[in-house]
Amino acid sequence: MTTKATTKTTAKKSSPAKTRAAKRKAPATTKALQDKIVQHLRGTQGTYEEKATPQAWWRATACAVNEYVMAGLTDTQKTHSRYDTRAVNYLSMEFLMGRLLSNNLHNLQLFDVTRDALAALGQNIDDLLEEEPDMALGNGGLGRLAACFLDSLASLNLPAVGYGIHYEHGLFEQHFRNGRQIERPDAWREYGNPWEVCRPESAQAVKLYGYVETVYEGAKPKKVWHAGRTIKAVPWDIPIVGYDGGNVNILRLWESRATDFFDWDVFNAGGYVDAQAEQAQAETISKVLYPNDETDAGKELRLIQQYFFCAASVADIVRRYRRAHGDDWSQFPKLVAIQLNDTHPAIAVPELMRLLLDEYNMVWADAWSLCQQVFSYTNHTLLPEALEKWTVRLFEKVLPRHLEIIYEINHQFLTTLVEAKWPGDDAMKQHLSIIEEGHERMVRMGNLCVIGSHKVNGVAQVHSDLVKTDLFPEFHALWPDKLTNVTNGITPRRWLKACNPRLATLIDKHIDADWPLHLNKLQGLAAKADDTKFQQAFMDVKRANKVDLVAEIKRLTDIDVSPDAIFDIQIKRLHEYKRQHLNLLHILALYRRLLDNPNYDIVPRVFIFGAKAAPGYKLAKDIIYAINKVAERINNDTRIDGKLKVVMLPNYRVSLAEKMIPAADVSEQISTAGKEASGTGNMKLALNGALTIGTLDGANIEIAEEAGEENCFIFGLTVDEVKALNANGYSPYDYYDHDEEIKAVLDWLDSDFFTPGHPGELSGLKNSLLAGGDPYKVLADFRSYSDAQQRVDAKYRDSKAWARSAIINTATMGKFNSDRSIQDYVDRIWHLKPYPRDNS
Ligand SMILES: *Cc1c(COP(=O)(O)O)cnc(C)c1O
Repeated sequence: MTTKATTKTTAKKSSPAKTRAAKRKAPATTKALQDKIVQHLRGTQGTYEEKATPQAWWRATACAVNEYVMAGLTDTQKTHSRYDTRAVNYLSMEFLMGRLLSNNLHNLQLFDVTRDALAALGQNIDDLLEEEPDMALGNGGLGRLAACFLDSLASLNLPAVGYGIHYEHGLFEQHFRNGRQIERPDAWREYGNPWEVCRPESAQAVKLYGYVETVYEGAKPKKVWHAGRTIKAVPWDIPIVGYDGGNVNILRLWESRATDFFDWDVFNAGGYVDAQAEQAQAETISKVLYPNDETDAGKELRLIQQYFFCAASVADIVRRYRRAHGDDWSQFPKLVAIQLNDTHPAIAVPELMRLLLDEYNMVWADAWSLCQQVFSYTNHTLLPEALEKWTVRLFEKVLPRHLEIIYEINHQFLTTLVEAKWPGDDAMKQHLSIIEEGHERMVRMGNLCVIGSHKVNGVAQVHSDLVKTDLFPEFHALWPDKLTNVTNGITPRRWLKACNPRLATLIDKHIDADWPLHLNKLQGLAAKADDTKFQQAFMDVKRANKVDLVAEIKRLTDIDVSPDAIFDIQIKRLHEYKRQHLNLLHILALYRRLLDNPNYDIVPRVFIFGAKAAPGYKLAKDIIYAINKVAERINNDTRIDGKLKVVMLPNYRVSLAEKMIPAADVSEQISTAGKEASGTGNMKLALNGALTIGTLDGANIEIAEEAGEENCFIFGLTVDEVKALNANGYSPYDYYDHDEEIKAVLDWLDSDFFTPGHPGELSGLKNSLLAGGDPYKVLADFRSYSDAQQRVDAKYRDSKAWARSAIINTATMGKFNSDRSIQDYVDRIWHLKPYPRDNS
């Protein structure tokens, strides 16, 4: 039945839409690609067709494609230097790039010819793409946002450089052992990475520790920082390929090295091991990514990582500027914009001040004016545990000169601006100070960012409003134009065209093929939302994607699920505020209803999770364990006749997201209102035709506005209702005592029903929701969530209504193109001009 409808749609000969959608010609022939791949297989991989492993085929293909990438990079760099372009420098501790081959092929319009070239060589492109390790140099949403933004910047021909850390180990690999998360190191470049280029000629020296001396040149005091250690920062460049003839920008990632390979004096004195130890210590800096999402690690190494990459990046920005302009700083703010992705790179502000003051002898007022013109800051969270603070003591030890500069920035700010606005108000000064007083004095990085930037943006409308009203209201009063909003977005190249080729092909048949650049054109699909044939074709795509995911689930977990069930997906970091445990409690309730009443009528449902927990976050790991244990029990219970399945896929990451998202019917976006700044997973899923079940939080609000609330399942407390509940004194026991089902499922966790022979293993979860005070209002939202899930079930039975809503979701997600986000940054903050590359 399903295949018939597909054949019908595809068999349709050239429609007017198809003529308009005529594909851009590939910049190379199949034969050319075939020759290049073989050439690299033999010439750079040192093997040959009959002998090559899949890994060697993947490398040879990457090298072949890289020839086109590098040609684009050279042209782009020549163009930028020819026109002396203004550029944005995007500073981020994380870039969650995922795999690059498929994306580069799609963006270069080389995917089809490469697939055919490989086929002619007896290779399957899908298998080869699986050979590439993910570049997981990030935790979750923040790092993935940076990656989507780089794609958009290149696609929009905007001059931009991404700056970050070349972590030797990205985010840990997650395994499950008896249901518990185990972390293994991720050695993504153990065998080299074909995309990156080392640029030793652009290495930088980064100083740490030591002391500051005041010397006098005449009457003028001058500060000299005598560093205790110097580290070498070596850049690795990853080319970022824009879509369809767009520019090729770079992501520059810094690796730490010992300044000299050996300390020869120590070595010659017989201290071989000591010399090695120094080297090992220096190289520790870029060794590992901190696996915390939304919590501040507060560790010395973390501060050093932050300073290391900021110092190297700022020095690189200044070097590039001086190459063209020497000592004339007047053009600096016209040519340089620096975006701070969260407070992690905040130290770049005092670092640029230090360079201008101490190295280039600029006076304070001029240096500060330059800084404020170039920096802008993106706030990503209101969660207090995520707001970075460093002890003054640590700063004194690691960055003594920067602490002096921060004190001076603070002094000027408090005695001029704050004093003028709130004369004599010492409480206000304390409140807005960069330094928090207390038994341990702290440096507040958020305050430093706001004071040092000309613009501060939140990442979704509701979040930006809360930044103004709750997080930084006084800064907002001081600078009414500083705080703004830029709603996040995702690149439709990776998150639709590349990851969901079936849907992309269907869309190509109905609207202009340039929708990956002009995503608002998806609106054209809305006219087809009631068309039975189109509905059938759309749902056939969904079903085929579900069949693929069924196989992947079987391969990864050995669990059998049916593609006829509703695929209900929650993928994101494991965190209490994201409330995977609310989802789990509802699963328990459904299971209990099925056991109580074998005729309880539900549409078969597969609940699918993907989530990593920070290794030190005990409750998050307990929730993973609970999901796995509940899954084991439910999936093996023959009484419920397969109506319910629970799957937790291991090692959630970009490449796994790319397989799950196209197969989702339902998108779980159930955070406590006011806690999720934006979310971007919500956008990826809706774009691929999943219906959102969600709270009015973050970008869910804007998604519901675009798609219409009738095409989503909105439930739960609003931001204001959560505030009111907190003000009135929330007690989870009110719900536990008065809702029989809530009581039953929570008490179930105390038994050994899910952990035979080990009662109490899941009690910690129950305790967090009762004695722990349920800080994320899980019980308060349970009933409303359960009701919304019943609406999901009812709607799915009406296949036309469901298909219509799914289509409307895809059709209305144009706003969430990261190209739109970047254009907002350009209009409101960066003021950049596009420079399409000249071809050399
Ligand atoms: C998009 C994405 C995220 C962010 O998901 P949210 O639901 O917005 O938290 C995290 N991890 C990966 C791998 C992603 O692709």
